[in-house]
Amino acid sequence: MKILTINCGSSSIKYKLFDMPGETLVAKGLVEKIGEETSIFRHEVAGQVREERLQVRNHEEGLELIARALVTGEPPAIKEVAEIAGVGHRVVHGGEGFDRSVLIDDEVINRIEAYRELAPLHNPPNLAGIKAARRFFGHCIQVASFDTAFHRTIPEVAYLYAIPYRFYQQYGIRRYGFHGTSHRYVARRAAELLGRDKYSLNAITCHLGNGCSVTAVRAGRSVDTSMGLTPLEGLIMGTRSGDIDPGVILFLAERLGLEAVALNRLLNRESGLLGISGLSNDFRNLLQAAEKGNRQASLAIDMFCYRLRKYVGSYLTVLGQIHAIVFTGGIGENVPLVREKSLAGLEGLGIILDREANYQGQGERIISQKDSRIAVLVVPTDEELRIAFDTYTLAREKVRP
Ligand code: AMP
Repeated sequence: MKILTINCGSSSIKYKLFDMPGETLVAKGLVEKIGEETSIFRHEVAGQVREERLQVRNHEEGLELIARALVTGEPPAIKEVAEIAGVGHRVVHGGEGFDRSVLIDDEVINRIEAYRELAPLHNPPNLAGIKAARRFFGHCIQVASFDTAFHRTIPEVAYLYAIPYRFYQQYGIRRYGFHGTSHRYVARRAAELLGRDKYSLNAITCHLGNGCSVTAVRAGRSVDTSMGLTPLEGLIMGTRSGDIDPGVILFLAERLGLEAVALNRLLNRESGLLGISGLSNDFRNLLQAAEKGNRQASLAIDMFCYRLRKYVGSYLTVLGQIHAIVFTGGIGENVPLVREKSLAGLEGLGIILDREANYQGQGERIISQKDSRIAVLVVPTDEELRIAFDTYTLAREKVRP
């Protein structure tokens, strides 16, 4: 069964075509710079990459291009679009409404639309992708997978902010959390690798990529997470500040006269690793610069690890007893230094890293010593594959209810 996943950003569409349930990646690609004079279209099938520069004015044109490339590319990924049994869409904000992936109908579209105020940068392009996909892949089911869904089990004490309660009632201001697809997947995988039932696992899952978040998992369910109303709260990220005293924002507004648009830009695009290092938001560049003695790059890395360490510590006390700490995402999977720095010296808490496994291993693995009470794992994540899996499951139910 062929399943297409679509991830629409404000000016991009990423897609992957899987053959399920074998989880084989058949094709993947990307349309970038949508709406600009020259857009870029990259399409890959069986190791053959084709890159084109052309004008793509909106998401609808982008999806038309993708639908065409899948059947006419060299080699074609499929003979006809009708072979696709389901399209799975990544939707960033599912508000309080969705605790799992769902079949998209008009009502679901209206509800996603209603959450646009909570995710103005994300939900509108996600919706544009859904509407366009209904046009070009109208023959098959469409599924929405929400970044927020896994976090619907977080209790009130953890999701409310201590501002007047009416703001929660009136505007839904609360912690929602993101990266749910990834946290759920790596928690499930960790349970399998440790031979535990997925609903018996207590764990701290660390998704460290361009965006970063940590989740406290009790009995297989999310009970707290570091991202909040928006994906700005919590860990230090590539260009996002993460946690900050709200007083700093008031200071910047009053003293420098910065308004919401400028503050948004400052905290989301100019802060984090980039803001501290003054160099790059890319961890690879920071590691290279730090090695050459760049102090600001070293400081950015140290601050990143320190913030992560604080979250691990606080979630340890939230959960009381845990079986595992799991690392995933581009940084979590590939930077042993981050894993080491964030967990060093915690032997007294039952966390003992295996230095060799941490530095030398590859892929999915346990990187703690045998006598470590808490296992530390690296589990590569693949959010698209998880979305494809949910879509496949719903498509199969539709065929065989
Ligand atoms: P993601 O959003 O999961 O793709 O992660 C992107 C982040 O992971 C960027 O900061 C990259 O620099 C970092 N990253 C990816 N691969 C590596 C690697 N092999 N070594 C160091 N950092 C990496």
